[in-house]
Amino acid sequence: MLDQTFSVTFWGVRGGYPKPGPTTIKFGGNTTCLEIRAGPHLIIVDAGTGIIGLGEKLVAQHLATGKPIVAMILFTHTHHDHTHGFPFFTPAYLGSSVLHIFGPKLLHQGLEEVLASAMLPPLYPVRLDEMSSMRVIRNVSENEIITCDAAGGSPQARNVYHEREAHGQGQVKVRIMRSYAHPQGIFIYRIELGGKKLVVATDVEGYAGGDKRLIKFAQGADLLIHDAEYTAEEYLNGSPPKQGWGHSTWEMAVEAAQAAGAKKLALVHHSVHHDDTFMEGMERQAQARFPAAIVAREGLTLDVKA
Ligand SMILES: [Zn+2]
Ligand SMILES: [Zn+2]
Repeated sequence: MLDQTFSVTFWGVRGGYPKPGPTTIKFGGNTTCLEIRAGPHLIIVDAGTGIIGLGEKLVAQHLATGKPIVAMILFTHTHHDHTHGFPFFTPAYLGSSVLHIFGPKLLHQGLEEVLASAMLPPLYPVRLDEMSSMRVIRNVSENEIITCDAAGGSPQARNVYHEREAHGQGQVKVRIMRSYAHPQGIFIYRIELGGKKLVVATDVEGYAGGDKRLIKFAQGADLLIHDAEYTAEEYLNGSPPKQGWGHSTWEMAVEAAQAAGAKKLALVHHSVHHDDTFMEGMERQAQARFPAAIVAREGLTLDVKA
């Protein structure tokens, strides 16, 4: 019997920096991290501070079952709010853990180099190469597709032109779109399993008339997770205006979901300046335009298939 689990749990939904405290209790203060369960595979997107709680849960499960932690980590990019939880991801310190880490090469620096540079004394006591886990860190490009087979084997990255060599029932496929709508660029990921599609598009700014490449990439997505850091008022008339900062308004996210024919939309990368009351209001406004929209909150799990 094939494992057809396909779900996403939000461990961090905040952008910029962590914002704990009484004003963010409902939606959460941790920065970006998603736990995706696709068949037997665990796929983690980004390592903001949300990954710390996820790591603690994985270690508790490991101690209870004795099973090693095996995960794929996909980085959208390496800005602090997407990487600063990684040094505190406890599974990386266990010798039995296996981490397959993929992400973009930006500004002539490889992903491994960037992660290592954030873990150097005097900024941090343990170097990346001193973590006990087995790590395979690989830069990928949008010409590549990452596949994982139904039996739970290691992920393989190959050129999309050789995609036909990657087949098999229950296979998970990860496709990449390089977006330039954020400083230094980012990766948008499309994860596919059993004909269902989950698209993660955080840290993207909408374009006039919509981001046509993204709309095509996310066409028919069962769930689109999209940046919605600003309101239109903040974007256009904020002090200073936020145009060109690499983030979207919730209206841009709704327009992208509608144009792509997405079945559900989850808004993420919440501004540190928006408290719970504000976010609830934003959710009502977004739902008036797109009923299947939700504002993602920490701890929420969505079934991609539903
Ligand atoms: Zn960010
Ligand atoms: Zn960023």
